[in-house]
Amino acid sequence: MHTLSEMMSKNHERVYFGYDKASGLKAIIAVHSTVLGPALGGTRMWDYSSEELALQDVLRLSRGMTYKAAMAGLALGGGKAVIIGDSTKDKTDDMMRAFGRMVEELDGKYITAEDVGTTEHDMSVIYSQTRHVTGIPKSFGGSGDPSPVTARGVYQGIRACVKESMRVTSLDGLRVAVQGIGNVGWYLCGYLHARGVKLFITDINEYRLQAAVKQFGATAVGPDEIYDADVDVFAPCALGAVLNDNTVSRIRARIVAGGANNQLAPDLADDALMRRGILYAPDYVINAGGLISASSEKLNHSNREVLEKTDNIYYTLERIFKSSAVEGVPTHIMSDRLAERRIQGAV
Ligand code: NAD
Repeated sequence: MHTLSEMMSKNHERVYFGYDKASGLKAIIAVHSTVLGPALGGTRMWDYSSEELALQDVLRLSRGMTYKAAMAGLALGGGKAVIIGDSTKDKTDDMMRAFGRMVEELDGKYITAEDVGTTEHDMSVIYSQTRHVTGIPKSFGGSGDPSPVTARGVYQGIRACVKESMRVTSLDGLRVAVQGIGNVGWYLCGYLHARGVKLFITDINEYRLQAAVKQFGATAVGPDEIYDADVDVFAPCALGAVLNDNTVSRIRARIVAGGANNQLAPDLADDALMRRGILYAPDYVINAGGLISASSEKLNHSNREVLEKTDNIYYTLERIFKSSAVEGVPTHIMSDRLAERRIQGAV
């Protein structure tokens, strides 16, 4: 792959490569856009089988962050970093310090945070080298676990979808299938259960599943059967790419609205959900509460502002649904267009 042509095709501003011999750090930082503000996005540590795959991933992920921040109404651009290596075997504090120095060299153009393979502890090590990091522990003055805020945004998003698709404002008696009762899924179940929603839940972690059944009076469903559940809303809160040709034809819900990232499989036709009359809440819009929470450390937003911005996800989705109906395009494409308009308007 040719880095420059790949960057140009997705409009990236800069890509930085870092190597530290002493610690073995091999990292790539991609700054997609700083039009709306510094490029914020997590650091993923993954055992990529080639540098090319690492580069492709960081280019794709950093671009996604630009769109997410734009639709969340934040004064932030999009960036992302990848560290090549196995986080369970290769990671050391020295490596994280070397990475922190690399971030520091960019002088605030890029702000890092946690992602797959990096932890709150890693962020506090990076913090010893640079201030340009979020997601540091509460004890260091950070915003802590973003999952409750993410779940609150997903709950608001489900409300917006129900109003749009079912023309009702109450969730009482609604049937919702939640896939994955991890951090986000658990808090989401809490919000929904408190509003009288009947929950159908699944997780590959049986212990977690049974705990949620007990806590929320939910019905447990097998990991594969969740797609066939007779529900109003399907809320993916586990893995990416769960909306593919096989699953979309099985989904009986008229709404798909959940917290997972990258829910649409890459080869799924753009209008596959729309053709089946399923209203889709674009993942990066409905799950932006985590970014809103994590970025509050850098943007000096109070707790009240974080919650207000998260609750605004309801109105952002309303706007997407309206424009999508007017322009006759799927909601995720409409969302991309609205994000691009916000960025272009700021240039
Ligand atoms: P998590 O790891 O705490 O939870 C994921 C849960 O899904 C786990 O309980 C796991 O056992 C379960 N799971 C995995 N594979 C499954 C399968 N095949 N079927 C059913 N369950 C399965 O993660 P999380 O922090 O709750 O995040 C969930 C999703 O939301 C991820 O896609 C994440 O990228 C996205 N997200 C999270 C946040 C956040 O604030 N945590 C913010 C934005 C997006």
